[in-house]
Amino acid sequence: MKLPINYQQQKKLISEKKTTHVEILDGYLERIEKYDKKVNSFLTLMKESSYKQARLCDKLFSELGEDVYKKYPLLGFVVSLKDLYAAESVRTTASSKVLDDYTSPYDSTAVSRLRADGCIFIGKTNCDAWAHGSSGENSDYGPTKNPWNFDFVPGGSSSGSAVSVTCDFCLASTGTDTGGSIRLPANFCGVVGLKPTWGAISRYGVVAMASSLDCVGFFANSSEDARSLFNATKGIDGFDATVTNVTPAKLKNDYTIGIAKEYLNDGVNPQVKNELKRVISTLENNGFTIKDVSLPLTEHAISVYYIIQPAEVSSNLARYDGVRYGHDRSYFAPEAKRRIILGTHVLSEGYYDAFYIKAMKVREKIIEEFDRVLNEVDAIIAPVSPTPPFKLGEKAQDPLQMYLADIYTVAANIAGIPALAIPSNITTQNLPLGFQLLGKRFNEEVLFDIANKFESVNTKHPGKAQLL
Ligand code: GLN
Repeated sequence: MKLPINYQQQKKLISEKKTTHVEILDGYLERIEKYDKKVNSFLTLMKESSYKQARLCDKLFSELGEDVYKKYPLLGFVVSLKDLYAAESVRTTASSKVLDDYTSPYDSTAVSRLRADGCIFIGKTNCDAWAHGSSGENSDYGPTKNPWNFDFVPGGSSSGSAVSVTCDFCLASTGTDTGGSIRLPANFCGVVGLKPTWGAISRYGVVAMASSLDCVGFFANSSEDARSLFNATKGIDGFDATVTNVTPAKLKNDYTIGIAKEYLNDGVNPQVKNELKRVISTLENNGFTIKDVSLPLTEHAISVYYIIQPAEVSSNLARYDGVRYGHDRSYFAPEAKRRIILGTHVLSEGYYDAFYIKAMKVREKIIEEFDRVLNEVDAIIAPVSPTPPFKLGEKAQDPLQMYLADIYTVAANIAGIPALAIPSNITTQNLPLGFQLLGKRFNEEVLFDIANKFESVNTKHPGKAQLL
């Protein structure tokens, strides 16, 4: 069974009549049936509705030929959904037993826009419950495993989404990134992960974690596929007043990329650091200008994040009282409880000024710092995680160590800027390595352009996980 490597190639296979949408879906579902028990990436399969969609795609293509893409630009693009995305009549659990038997009555905006453009939804993916976590181990439905090596974590919180893409269980996936939950699993699984600008895509219908940080985003095999999904979903929405329409930035022939010395300190694992240096020299050899910059406030990002984020979590999780839907609060697992307690603490009288207000002030400083640096350069290059994938269980008992995995990802959420994680190589243990690009607000196109150029010259792309 020939499965597409990206959407461009899928369209070619379809147009040359080498395959059909139903056959592609058969291929994905066969692989899921055979291998998903090893990695635990899906919570719910949408078999019946996906076949219905695939049959319709075949019918439309046979009637309209290539013209079908004018009306349905993503016809037959098979996508999995992190189980935080409401999809009509489908179970949505956020990987928590609180919502074990909850069925969404409507589509989230991201889902309805992808649906309208012709996407096929194959199922809902496992994740850390409520998107709390960096490893995928916090799911109430058991951990997801890294298909590159089952002893390692796939990264979280959007663990199942990243795994479903690297395993060829689908062509792309949706995720959410509040502090790195798309970029970290993308990095640990060797796929592209996009965290857009806060305010670029509607969050309507996506289970809220920390609203001022949450971003809807994607996993894909190439930056071009991530770009297509971004463009299909972005833009103002009557259901989310925080979304803005912005004209995309002009592309250039030569970009200046900043590297902050704070990103190459001793805390970074040598393989991650060496790979970043290799990527930088590849970029330099291919016409990019590299410039040293300084982001001294980076070291405070994690403290700021772990005040603001739990504060907002405690507020957002207050709605799960078991009265209107879901089970009562006794169903919350320890990590959610920890964040509710932390959040109510930093918001309580006597501590509000000392913690929450202070963190908000530092947040402002971090925003100013990024604005200053991004005035001098088109993008910033950084590691995604200070280490390659770690072992299952290695940090599970130590929340602080787990929180430190986010040290290079949370700053983009605090500043609301876009970031793109790109796979680039493998470690000596055959685990994926990569890096991220951070850009100016609403300059996603610049990041895609740089990534595209990098992908075309990189000779060490990790490829896909071998499940056999
Ligand atoms: N790992 C981070 C946390 O647990 C980020 C989670 C996310 O981005 N959803 O808070």
